[in-house]
Amino acid sequence: MAVVSGPVSAVDAPAIVAADPGAVTAPAFERFESREADVGGVAVRRALPKRRRRTIGAWCFVDHFGPAAMRDRSAMQVGPHPHIGLHTVTWLVGGEALHTDSLGSEQVVRPGQLNLMTAGRGVAHAEEAPTGRPGSLHGAQLWVAQPDGTRHGGPAFEHHAELPVAGFGTLAATVLVGALGDDASPARADTPLLGCAVVAPRQGGSGTVPLDPAFEHGVVVLDGALVVDGERVRPGELAYLGAGRHELPVAADGPAHALLLGGVPFGETPLMWWNFVARTREEIEEAWADWQGAPSDRFGPVRSGLERIAAPRPTWLR
Ligand code: MN
Repeated sequence: MAVVSGPVSAVDAPAIVAADPGAVTAPAFERFESREADVGGVAVRRALPKRRRRTIGAWCFVDHFGPAAMRDRSAMQVGPHPHIGLHTVTWLVGGEALHTDSLGSEQVVRPGQLNLMTAGRGVAHAEEAPTGRPGSLHGAQLWVAQPDGTRHGGPAFEHHAELPVAGFGTLAATVLVGALGDDASPARADTPLLGCAVVAPRQGGSGTVPLDPAFEHGVVVLDGALVVDGERVRPGELAYLGAGRHELPVAADGPAHALLLGGVPFGETPLMWWNFVARTREEIEEAWADWQGAPSDRFGPVRSGLERIAAPRPTWLR
């Protein structure tokens, strides 16, 4: 099982098409425990999807990984595997990761930078932590479901070495995707979306983040603890905040690093299975068969010394 691009299984959400049962249009506060997984000795906390919370805007998958020693070969060694119908977003708190893909991209990502890959009709990639480096690998891998208008389009990859940082009170918020006030990320977004990293300094701090009331929002804490709307949120939890909020008071007693995710409720019902985001089982079966026959026009070769990851047979096929 992949550390950074962990496949979605029925444990996370059944492989059926279902409207999100938890769609909320008013401010809310719902706390969800992440599913803990030990992947090659590395702790992964899967915050999304949940059975009762499939998406936040178009965000459909959040894995929080590490911290894990970079010198450990299992820190991140994810061989070539395919994706369809999604963007992958890689955000690091510590360490570094090398991305390679079937477009020929080869890009190291470091804390404060963004790697964003668009799968569209199909792409393959690998991710690995350069070994022998000091420090620890710590971060998050997220997926954004592509809407019908773009999900059959071509694959793409973008790296943003610098992102806008907005200040709120004594907190700083790096804008990964979308905009906070006048600070807009250059990253691609196919639907109205927000992704930002809220960081509190060593002594803690507080501030009020302006929100778009048309968006629903959620918070995943990667380090420390963040008090969100008066509720303390820790690593291993997702706080779902609903929609209709114009601002969000946040505070921290000490150093903290959290992801604030938002977007207009997705409005489409993605079907997620393994590394594929689709709408029907037939689409997933076709992608599975194409990966079995790869490299192909759909899933090209990836320059990586790691072993290619085989797709399991869809569970609904006999
Ligand atoms: Mn992946």
